[in-house]
Amino acid sequence: MGSMVLPSQGSTRDIVTASQSPNCRGVRVQVLWPQFSRNKFLGEGLELSARSRLSTQLRLTKIYAKVVTIPIELEEATEPPINLFKPKEPYTATIKSNQKIVGPKAPGETCHIVIDHGGNVPYWEGQSYGVIPPGENPKKPGMPNTVRLYSIASTRYGDDFDGKTASLCVRRAVYYDPETGKEDPAKKGICSNFLCDSKPGDKVLITGPSGKVMLLPEDDQKACHIMVATGTGIAPYRGYLRRMFMENVPTFKFEGLAWLFLGVANTDSLLYNEEFISYQKQYPKNFRYDIALSREQLNKKGGKMYVQDKIEEYSEEIFKLLDGGAHIYFCGLKGMMPGIQDTLKRVAEERGESWDQKLLKLKKNKQWHVEVY
Ligand code: FAD
Repeated sequence: MGSMVLPSQGSTRDIVTASQSPNCRGVRVQVLWPQFSRNKFLGEGLELSARSRLSTQLRLTKIYAKVVTIPIELEEATEPPINLFKPKEPYTATIKSNQKIVGPKAPGETCHIVIDHGGNVPYWEGQSYGVIPPGENPKKPGMPNTVRLYSIASTRYGDDFDGKTASLCVRRAVYYDPETGKEDPAKKGICSNFLCDSKPGDKVLITGPSGKVMLLPEDDQKACHIMVATGTGIAPYRGYLRRMFMENVPTFKFEGLAWLFLGVANTDSLLYNEEFISYQKQYPKNFRYDIALSREQLNKKGGKMYVQDKIEEYSEEIFKLLDGGAHIYFCGLKGMMPGIQDTLKRVAEERGESWDQKLLKLKKNKQWHVEVY
């Protein structure tokens, strides 16, 4: 493992040369050109894959890049790590950064939180960490708080490509009194508020990693993956998509189709939109991205546009892909599933197929992956 920091104001040629070195997993580029600092994505530092075409950015001259070679042993394991740290003996990690990632018109707050685990709590894409918030369990005085699970939103290499961090996408749980409509701070979610309020350097107790149902099947690199998310359900897919399109993983060269359906309230609530748009531009044959904005768009019946309406719109293609062996994933709030299942059932019936039988087959073939909470 190692990293190489190119001289500040390094030339674009330096970046290309470095990105082509055998172990380079990606390049972090910080754009120093003030003109670009207003642009959220570029201003924060843009991670470029060695595979990506490094197009617009290459025209810049004042940049520095950190080229990171990653711990190759993270690729060599044949089984995912499971429960390396348990609630009785959690790992004490450190918050590296915490950033609100929704705009001012989003209902609610969602944060992207990078946790430094020092390489001690490795995980695979699609797994979750447990977090034990500090303080006493309000239901069991004298006892510590219980573990809450969070899907990991980065690849095994983390957002810095060094295998030492994991990113979470956390929505702050608030409580509104149904009678007064006012927020009641005494009933706010304990762990999500702890995480969303956390600052770099704060300690956080983590457990895990856990979960196998959302692991990305990598045996067929030409496979099709249909990913359906509501809100923070995007987390595991961000990890998959970075692995597919941003990183240069020697053992996984994705050549299939990844199709993301994301449902959120409005444009300001979109999560990681810039990353997904950039994949769409770079890999139009391998990545499709459809969004449902329930408070901004209408479905064909004039109602709110939910993710199942988008699924219905493309149902012909989706059913064909499923028949051809595509994997389909659902992640987000529990409430998303009944509407989606009803839509899929209706579409199946319209096609003269039995949804129950189809679902059984999808489950048996391990094409059906659900993680809702
Ligand atoms: P808690 O303190 O557990 O409270 C739960 C809810 O009850 C809150 O909405 C709170 O406002 C309300 N409440 C509290 N007290 C009262 C009261 N007296 N009366 C009525 N209501 C009350 N979440 C994410 O944001 N991102 C993820 O990626 C994510 N991934 C997950 C993956 C899995 C596999 C699972 C199972 C869950 C995941 N979750 C995720 C959900 C997460 O685990 C937590 O459940 C969530 O953050 C709320 O936890 P909390 O401690 O903030 O709320």
